[in-house]
Amino acid sequence: MKLYVIGIGPSGENEMTLRAVRALAKCDCFTICTLYLRLIDGLLDGKERIQTGMTREVDRCTAARDAALAGHTVAVISSGDAGVYGMAGLMFEVCQEYPEIEIEVISGITAACSGGAVLGAPLTNDFAVVSLSNLLTPWETIEKRLHAAAQGDFCLCLYNPASKKRTDHLQKACDILLTVRDPKTPCGLVRNIGREGEQFRILTLGELRDTSVDMLTTVFIGNSVTEVISGRLVTPRGYRGV
Ligand code: SAH
Repeated sequence: MKLYVIGIGPSGENEMTLRAVRALAKCDCFTICTLYLRLIDGLLDGKERIQTGMTREVDRCTAARDAALAGHTVAVISSGDAGVYGMAGLMFEVCQEYPEIEIEVISGITAACSGGAVLGAPLTNDFAVVSLSNLLTPWETIEKRLHAAAQGDFCLCLYNPASKKRTDHLQKACDILLTVRDPKTPCGLVRNIGREGEQFRILTLGELRDTSVDMLTTVFIGNSVTEVISGRLVTPRGYRGV
């Protein structure tokens, strides 16, 4: 019994790995968040969608497990990488008691990498990734991690920077960074990476604090040596100094 957990990258077909495309071809049914369905609908022809009405992640993973137990070859499809704020871990949890199901995780290009490439090269050296969503992580824990990343002079990549209910999380995150970082620190925003309407903007940390973003955006905050070179965001790795 085989269950693939497949990351499809930021934009679907164009940025999927060949391994992901080949694994998907072997599956006869799949589950995917409706938002991403149209990104890869061309690769889903003839396959059955499991439990279309379900939106909760746990329900989707349980339904995928049950389909595998019933003899289907199943694809659990995530945008970006399924192991980065995705469902890969949950899939192992719900299959814990079913060793007959073989789970294969196929990695995809996560928003930190695809968005970084749009901006230039902001993550060339050590960086930290933090999600500003407090749906599954208490806000105090998120603040603790932001303080630690600020202290460590990591470049930061922020996922889930806002939603309709959470409008001030980015501002709060910037205030934490501003306790140790210069307001002129170069930062970047990328929206709809790889998709129609892709947009990016390079701005300072001080400006970022007063900018509103939505959940289709990934935010990049430079460290103490990040610069803007030819209009792109670059964190030098230090090659020129050796
Ligand atoms: N598994 C996904 C992340 C899911 S969390 C991955 O590896 O990329 C959802 C957050 O990811 C969004 O709020 C946004 O911050 C980021 N994100 C995912 N895809 C994106 C895209 N195409 N453009 C911009 N941001 C994206």
